[in-house]
Amino acid sequence: PYTGPTADEILAQRKEYLSPSMFYFYNKPLNIVDGKRQYLFDENGRRYLDGFGGIATVSCGHCHPDVVEAIVNQTKRIQHSTILYLNHAIGDYAQALANKLPGNLKVVFFTNSGTEANELAMLIARLYTGCHDIISLRNAYHGNAAGTMGATAQGNWKFNVIQSGVHHAVNPDPYRGVFGSDGEKYAKDVQDLIDFGTSGHVAGFMCEAIQGVGGIVELAPGYLPAVYNSVKKAGGLFIADEVQSGFARTGSNFWGFEGHGVVPDIVTMAKGIGNGIPLGAVVTTPEVAEVLTRRNYFNTFGGNPVCTAAGLAVLKVIEKEKLQENALVVGSYLKERLNALKNKYELIGDVRGRGFMLGVELVTDRELKTPAKAETVHVMDKMKDLGVLIGKGGFYGNVFRITPPLCFTKEDAVNHLCHCINHIQVTQSKLPNNNRSIGISPFQSLSSMVPNLLRSFLFGPTMSKHMKMQNSMHIMEKFGESNSDQGEEI
Ligand code: PMP
Repeated sequence: PYTGPTADEILAQRKEYLSPSMFYFYNKPLNIVDGKRQYLFDENGRRYLDGFGGIATVSCGHCHPDVVEAIVNQTKRIQHSTILYLNHAIGDYAQALANKLPGNLKVVFFTNSGTEANELAMLIARLYTGCHDIISLRNAYHGNAAGTMGATAQGNWKFNVIQSGVHHAVNPDPYRGVFGSDGEKYAKDVQDLIDFGTSGHVAGFMCEAIQGVGGIVELAPGYLPAVYNSVKKAGGLFIADEVQSGFARTGSNFWGFEGHGVVPDIVTMAKGIGNGIPLGAVVTTPEVAEVLTRRNYFNTFGGNPVCTAAGLAVLKVIEKEKLQENALVVGSYLKERLNALKNKYELIGDVRGRGFMLGVELVTDRELKTPAKAETVHVMDKMKDLGVLIGKGGFYGNVFRITPPLCFTKEDAVNHLCHCINHIQVTQSKLPNNNRSIGISPFQSLSSMVPNLLRSFLFGPTMSKHMKMQNSMHIMEKFGESNSDQGEEI
C-alpha cells in the first residue's frame, strides 16, 4: 500500500516549490500512485479507468511489462548521451521506426519531446528551402518553444513574444468552420496566404492529422491533397505533426496522415512513441536530412539508449498485441455509441475523431453551437467520482477528449465510459435554460444546482446504478480484470 504524502500535502508542496503555471484536472485533483494497463490507482488504491492516457504518452498501457523490462535492462547496462560513442540501441530503433513509414522517409533524428521535434522540423524545412515562411492552422498546437509557439494558434497557449514567420490558415473544421466539410474551399486560404502573404515561396506547411489540444478536430475531406499541391508549387515541405495521432491511435492507419492520400516530407512524433518515456523524433528523407550536415547539430539525450530501447519495445508490443486493430474495432464501436448518446442528449453537439482519438463537443444550443464549458467540467468531474477519467480541450474548453491507452476494451468503452457520460442526462435535465436568458452564467446556474445533482446522485434511480458501478469499480481487485456485467448498454 501507498504510504507517501497525501494529495493535500502534495498540493501544499507544489504551491511552495513548483511553478505556479502547473495546472491539474478536477477541483480536487487526484493523487495517482500506480498504473497498470488502462487503469490508474489513487493513494487509497481506488481504481480509475483511464480514458485519457494517450495524451500523457501511454500507448501500450501503463507500465507495460515488456516496455518496463526493456527500460530496466538498458538502464542497468548503460545510459549515456548519443554523441561521442557508438551504441546499437539508437540504430536498431531508428531502423524499426523507419520501416513503419511510407516512401523514402527513413532518416531519423531523435529529440526529447514533441516541441523539440517540431522546432527541428521547422529548422530543417527552413534550411532546405532557404525560405522562412511556414503555414500552420488556426487552432493548432505544435509546442511551446519560440518557433513552435509561433506555429501554435490558440491564444491561451501563447505569450506575446517572438511569433515571426508563421501564417495561420483558416481551420478546415467540419463542425465550426465556415465551409463545413468542403476541404477544397478551406485549402484556397492556404493558396491565398502564399499569394498575398509571402514572396510566393514558403518553407513549409505543418499540421496535425487530427487536432488534439484543439479539441479532436478532423481535417475536412479533400483538404490535405489540395493544400499539398499549393505548398509543393511554392517549393515548401509538408510537415505532419503526428505527436498525438501517430502510433496506431487512429486505428485505420499507423499514422494519422495516411488516411489523407499524401506523403509528408517530414514527420514529427512524441508522446505515444515511448509509452511514457521522454522521447521524440523527426523522420525525413535522406535528401532533406542532408541540410543538417552544414553545421554541427546534436541533442545530448535525444535517442539515448534507455529511451530508444523503450521505443523499440513499444513498436513490438503494438504489433504483438494487435493494438492498431484494437483501436480500430473498439474505437469505431465507441464512436457509434457516442453518436447514439448524441441522438439522445441535446447537450452533445458533435461526436468526431477516429480510432482512439475521439471528441465529444458539448453545446448549450445546437443551432448557435454555444460552448457548454461549465457543463463539460461538471460532467468530467462527476465521471471522475464514478471512476472514469477523460480529458477536455478545444479553444472553448468544451470538448471531451477520449484518448485511452490502446488496450482499452469494448467493455471499458461502453459499460464504463459511455455509461458515465450518461451523467449528461442529469446535467442536461437540470440546466435552467431560463436562467441563462436572464443573465445568470451557466457556471452560476450549475453551482446553484449542485446540491440537487448530488441528491439525485445519491438517491435517484439512475444514480443508484451509477453508485452500484462506482462501488464495484472500487472493490474490483487492484490490477484485476474489469467486471463484465456493469451497467447497461447504451
Ligand atoms: N504537437 C502536438 C500535436 C501536441 O499535442 C503536443 C503536446 N500536446 C506537442 C506537439 C508538443 O509536445 P511536448 O509537450 O512533448 O513538447
